[in-house]
Parts: sequence; structure tokens; C-alpha cells
Amino acid sequence: MSDFDLFVIGAGSGGVRAARIAAGHGAKVGICEESRVGGTCVIRGCVPKKLLVYASRFSEEFADAAAYGWEVPQARFDWSRLIAAKDKEIDRLNGVYLKLLDNAGVSLFEGRGRLLDSHHVHVAGRTLSAEKILIATGGRPWVPDFEGSEHAIVSDHAFHLERLPQRILVVGGGYIACEFAGIFNGMGSEVIQAYRRDALLRGFDDDVRQTVTEGLIGKGIDVRLNTDVRRIREADGGYQVDLTGDKRLTVDQVMYCTGRRPYTGDLGLEKAGVATNAGGAIEVDEFSRTSADNIFAVGDVTDRINLTPVAIHEGHAFADSEFGNAPRPVDHRFVPSAVFSQPPVGSVGYGEQEAGDFFGRIRVYQSAFRPMKDTLSGRDGKMLMKVIVDAATDRVVGCHVVGPDAPEIVQGFAVAVKNGLRKTQWDATIGIHPTAAEELVTLRQPVNEGQ
Ligand code: NDP
Repeated sequence: MSDFDLFVIGAGSGGVRAARIAAGHGAKVGICEESRVGGTCVIRGCVPKKLLVYASRFSEEFADAAAYGWEVPQARFDWSRLIAAKDKEIDRLNGVYLKLLDNAGVSLFEGRGRLLDSHHVHVAGRTLSAEKILIATGGRPWVPDFEGSEHAIVSDHAFHLERLPQRILVVGGGYIACEFAGIFNGMGSEVIQAYRRDALLRGFDDDVRQTVTEGLIGKGIDVRLNTDVRRIREADGGYQVDLTGDKRLTVDQVMYCTGRRPYTGDLGLEKAGVATNAGGAIEVDEFSRTSADNIFAVGDVTDRINLTPVAIHEGHAFADSEFGNAPRPVDHRFVPSAVFSQPPVGSVGYGEQEAGDFFGRIRVYQSAFRPMKDTLSGRDGKMLMKVIVDAATDRVVGCHVVGPDAPEIVQGFAVAVKNGLRKTQWDATIGIHPTAAEELVTLRQPVNEGQ
């Protein structure tokens, strides 16, 4: 008899959910974690990032308050106080996660798990056996190899800097780069963001990309497009960075946000017959089954859609399928996502270009306006609303918002998109006035009626 019905390697969002649900179905479950329970999202990702985003927004609030009749004395920002408060909150959440596992009766092993074969895991000096094994080890930041790349920090470090950099170069144009450029900018650092292509956030709708790129520039970030880093050298307590186009910068910090890679190295996958793809991600089917019969994988280590709620969903579906007698595949269509850049983005479904490629004839509804709050302050903000409709069925297949509260707005509209509501049904919904979101149910005139 095995030590466990299920052994989970990695106690992040996906692993913890799977462990708890499986235990709730009556399975004897063990889990191991080499870092802190909670994983990337809770310990060094979404949660601390959002706290820093909140902190960074105050500078603009203070500046705009005068237009609304407030007299605000000169504000001062203390980075170490913020980091200490953030760390306290992360400790609390780590405790919540530990308690969740404990309450569910899951045995926790502190240490790195390595597969010895398809039924045995070595962790913290012990060999444990399990009927089924779930790999949920997530991903790790990745930095390209070039002269001086060892001087670059990644998001893991950004949460623990001793002091706020006066001048920072952020490299990349994806989620993390756009979010951290806004964080440092709002806190008063001088931020240069270098991206190798001509608009940030590749993969999003083109108007979203354009609006975010202009928005970041409008907030004072020195966005250098079509720019890459050639080398980094230490100089006077900071760094001298050579960019393409014979440009040179001196900064206190260089932060690389050039993507994450599945964390599969040294896991013993080959000993257990678990196949990975060329990028190192574990190959799985829609039930999160790997090439080994009794081994499964969820979350970023599978490189499907690398978002916390997706990992949680995959972990839950796996546990229900394998231990709850309720098999269900994971549906990865119409997953909403957000970028907590400033301005932020909320997005679900197809962008205009890909909708046209996929559906053929589409209708595009779009509106851009100044957020109401910016009127008195005179701030030059821009809000973008975009709705994309499959002309043949009238179904809304894309909804994209850039501007204040965009992630909160799109979470609600994602229900309508996911469930295939038609544009006429959106039109029949009465708006809430005055909000920005009401625009999404009052767009009547297409700006583009497709091919
Ligand atoms: P992304 O994949 O979003 O972006 C990586 C960026 O780095 C891209 O702009 C990419 O350029 C650029 N890049 C890649 N390789 C190089 C290179 N060799 N030289 C220069 N630039 C390069 O990764 P992130 O690190 O921002 O985030 C990782 C993942 O974490 C995201 O994909 C997302 O799934 C998740 N995440 C989600 C968040 C959220 O939901 N709000 C927040 C943070 C992370 P190019 O476009 O040309 O490929």
C-alpha cells in the first residue's frame, strides 16, 4: 500500500487547490514545497504586485486632489515602510494557506520533491510512495544570456529591494514589464522601459496595445520601442547599459521581465516517463494527464494559460476527475485576463485581427473617451472600450477595456462573453449611469463591419 493516494509537488495556487479538493473527496494527500506555501501568486506575484500597484497610485491621487478642492501637504513616500507592510500581509496569507492545508488534513513536507519513478517521490531526505502524483511546480523568471545579464534583477527581487531605485530600466513589453514600469513610476522613480517591438503587450488587440503604449508614455514613462539591450556593466554603484541604436543609459537598477519558463529542471521527469515539449513544459491533455498513466500536471508548469485562476481551475478539475468521481475537462476558451498597468487593461476573447481571421465577417464597436475623473483634474487620460461581434451569429466574441477599473469591469462582462450572449442581448441591458462601463451596453454604431 502507498503512503498517499495523491502526492502533490508544489504548493502554489494549483497544487494547494488540487490537494484540498482531493482530500475533501476522501483521498490521503501529501504535498511538498521547497519555498513558501502559497506559490508565485501569493508570495512573489499577483498579490504583492497588486499591493505595490495600490501604493504607486497615491502620487496621482495626491496630485489630482487639488482640482477637487483638497489642499494636500507635500507627500513623502517611504519604500521600506511599504515593503514591511507588504511582507506582513504576505506572511498572513502564507499562514492562511498553511491552515487551509492543515484543516483539509493534507500532510506538508518542506523541501524540493524529485520523482524517483512513477510512484515514488524523494523529498526532505525521505522517499514517499503515492498512487497518483500531481506536478504543480509553476514557472520561474527567465533572462536571456548576454554580457552583463547577471546584473539584471527579475520580479522575484523587485519585491525586496532595499531602496527605491531613482532610475530604473525595465526590459520587456509584457504583463510584468508594464505593471512594474507603472509601479516604479508612480512611486517617483525615473523609469525607462525598453521593448524590442513597436507596441507593448503583444498578443492583445492592436488598439489596446496602442492605448496602453500611449498611456504609459502619458504617465511619464520613457518608453523606448524597437529597442533591445546589448550589454550591462557596473558603473559607480549603478549600471551602464548599452542599447541598440548606439544609445547608452546609466541607471541604478535593471529589471528584466522577459517571460517565465516552466520549472521542470531536476524534477526526475524522465525517470517517471513524463514527457515535456521543446520549451520544457509538461505535455498534458484536457484532463491534465501527462504521458505517464498516474502522473498529472497543472498550472504554469504545463504552459497552457499562465494565470492563477486557470491553475486553480485545472487543479480543482483534476481533483474532481480523479478523486470525486466527476470527470471534467478544463475549458480554456474565453479566459479573461487583466494587466495592472497604469492605465490597466481588462480583456476577454478575440482581438479584432484574430477575430477577423477566425470568424471571417465581424462587427467592431469602439469608443474612446476621457475618464470622468480626469475632467476636473485636467489629466489627459484615455479610456478605450471595444466590443467585437461575430457577424454571422451576432455573438460577442471579444471585449476589451483600457482605463480605470478595466479589470473589474471586464470580469463581469466576461460572463456574458463566455456564455455566448449576442450583441442584441447586450443592447437590451440598461446601463448604470454615470459609469464608464455603461458604454459597453450603449455602443450601437460599428466602426468596422469587417470584410
Ligand atoms: P510575457 O510573456 O507577458 O512578456 C515577456 C516580454 O519579454 C515580451 O514583451 C517579450 O517580447 C519580451 N522578451 C522575450 N524574450 C526577450 C528577449 N530575448 N529579449 C528582449 N525581450 C524579450 O512575460 P512576463 O514576464 O511579463 O510575464 C510572465 C507571465 O506571467 C505572463 O505571460 C502571464 O501569463 C503571467 N502574468 C500575469 C499577470 C496578470 O494576470 N496580471 C501579471 C504578471 C504575469 P515579445 O512580445 O517580442 O515576445
